[in-house]
Amino acid sequence: MINKIWRILLLLLLVSMTACAGQANSTTAATTAASAPAVTDVPAITAATSAPAQVSATPDQSAAAVQATVATQPAAATGCTVPAALTPAMTEGPYFKSGSPERASLIDNLPGTKLILTGYVLSADCTPIPHALLDFWQADSQGQYDNSGYTLRGHQFTDAAGHFQLETVVPGLYPGRTEHIHVKVQAPNGPILTTQLFFPGVSQNQSDSIYNPQLLINVQSSSGTMTATYNFIVATK
Ligand code: FE
Repeated sequence: MINKIWRILLLLLLVSMTACAGQANSTTAATTAASAPAVTDVPAITAATSAPAQVSATPDQSAAAVQATVATQPAAATGCTVPAALTPAMTEGPYFKSGSPERASLIDNLPGTKLILTGYVLSADCTPIPHALLDFWQADSQGQYDNSGYTLRGHQFTDAAGHFQLETVVPGLYPGRTEHIHVKVQAPNGPILTTQLFFPGVSQNQSDSIYNPQLLINVQSSSGTMTATYNFIVATK
């Protein structure tokens, strides 16, 4: 009888141990299951943590690059260096006429060497000035002014980038004067600059009493059509 009781107790003990072992396995599995997503999450969190750092660095770098580009673009495009000296003023002469037509080309099939003059109107801090007025007038290739009409006379405005382009002919000489183009330049609400532009390599430059080398256009090509540049630096108020 005692042996039978011991067997039953032993059996119960075994059953109990088996049950505990099962619980322990379940706990281990649950722990593993619970920790497994955490392990899986680590790379995701790491990635999520590092991704914004990369994302935030890129716009910062782009913004800095854009700022640098914007800051240097006007100077790079115009060749202007701060502080820029204002373009010298010069006498108007006797042939200015108000009321010139608005046009960028004054050629009108006139004889002579075609000239394409481009440039910017800028402030002393090298800022391009949009909608600045440029009013040009000049002699024809024979040194004659049209004082009854508006041949070789015209005004235009700089574009949004402060840029202008004039198409005309190279002016001729007339007594006492070297080759030159008259122009009035005015920033919106600024004072009017009246001046003249000169051509390099013209022997009469040295004998013209009002010639100023600061007002020489920069000729880039003179084979066939002459192309040249000039930037005006003007007061803005
Ligand atoms: Fe003149």
